[in-house]
Parts: sequence; structure tokens; C-alpha cells
Amino acid sequence: MDKNNEMNTGNVEPQLTQIRSLCVYCGSWSGIDPSLEAFARTFGSACAARGIELIYGGGGIGLMGTVAEAALEGGGRVTGIIPRSLLESEPPFSNVTELVVVDSMHERKRQMFDRADGFVVLPGGLGTLDETIEMITWRQLGFHDKPIVLANYRGYWNPLLTLFDHIVATGFAQPDSHDLYTVADSVDGIFERLTNGTPTGTAGLQTGTAAQRLGTT
Ligand code: AMP
Repeated sequence: MDKNNEMNTGNVEPQLTQIRSLCVYCGSWSGIDPSLEAFARTFGSACAARGIELIYGGGGIGLMGTVAEAALEGGGRVTGIIPRSLLESEPPFSNVTELVVVDSMHERKRQMFDRADGFVVLPGGLGTLDETIEMITWRQLGFHDKPIVLANYRGYWNPLLTLFDHIVATGFAQPDSHDLYTVADSVDGIFERLTNGTPTGTAGLQTGTAAQRLGTT
């Protein structure tokens, strides 16, 4: 993967004006690959540079904290939405633009959904997975038509994409369920997918198997 491309936050696309807010799902941990933090930081800065409000889970820890911090440092608007019960385990930054403390996890998810024009999924754990699958299935059910981009940094989500293929291959989802999300492997790629939803490069093709979408066959 081209490192420069990965970290490039330039080339602001005018079409992105319709995306005014993005919900980011990502880990409350930072993972073992130190370059992940740089990727998260680049994404947060890119949101701020594009004037896109960041909607996130509110905590100041892990990759979610990194994204929010970078967006704030870039002068961006950041809204954190956190259940009261997590205020201690996921302590929020004191300087987020808006901190919404809610009574339940469901309320958090709902507000994150309502406030976002689209969703970007960075590497994360089980909580990230839960939130992502919910947004994909809500789209499958026709509850919304907001773009969902899996940021497949260094192939992090490849096993999930393979599982999606398995689900289709075994007759538990329509082949066009792959159209419910797009895949990008760079920060610029994320904004390209949000702009036009069409795949470029080696990730994010909307047809074929995960291996074909990832350019590995
Ligand atoms: P994780 O990916 O497990 O590090 O979690 C990322 C974020 O997702 C954290 O802010 C968690 O509080 C949140 N989270 C965990 N489980 C859920 C859930 N069931 N619904 C919504 N958010 C969750």
C-alpha cells in the first residue's frame, strides 16, 4: 500500500459538501500496530479539514479518542455521545464541542445514527463490530440509505469481508448485500467512497468475492 496515499489528507472534494457529519466507529483500544494511531489521526484531521462534524462514542481512549483528538486539534466539530454508565470506563475529553450523556447504549446508538450523514468504520473490537453490523442490517431492512465505509486499513476487515461472502454463498443473504457497504484502504479512499460509492484501487469492489474485491485473485 502506498504510505503517502494512506496519510494524504489533501485533495478536498467539493462533492463532499452533502456529507456534513460522519459517525466513526472504532476501537476503545488502539491495537498492537502503532501505525493504526497515525491512520486514525489522519482520518480525524481530514474530517476537520473538510468541515465534517465527527460523531463518535464520546470516550477519550483508544482509536476513538485518537480520531476525536485529531479532529479537535484541526478545529473540527466533534460530538461525543456516551451512556452515563460508561463515563468512568471511557472518560470523555473535556473539550469536545458537544458531549451528550444518555441513559442507555441503545440511546447512544440511536443518537449517533440520527446525527450522522454516513458511517466510517475504522479497526476496532466487538463493540465496533456490533455497531457496524447494526448499521448494515438497518440499511438492508431499508431503514436508511446512508453510506457505510469499512476502512480496511492493512486488511484489518478482510476476515469480516470473507464472512460476508460466506453468508451470501450459503444462501443467507442476497448477493447484492455487498452493496450495503463500501471498502477503502486509505483515508483518501474513504472520502472517495463517501462521494461516489464506487470502488477504486485494490479494495471496495462491489461485486465478486471478497478476494476479488480486495484484488487478491
Ligand atoms: P470496542 O470496539 O469493543 O473497543 O468498542 C468500541 C466502542 O463501542 C466503545 O465505545 C464501546 O462502548 C462501544 N460498544 C461496545 N458494545 C456496544 C454495543 N453493544 N452497542 C453500542 N456500542 C457498543
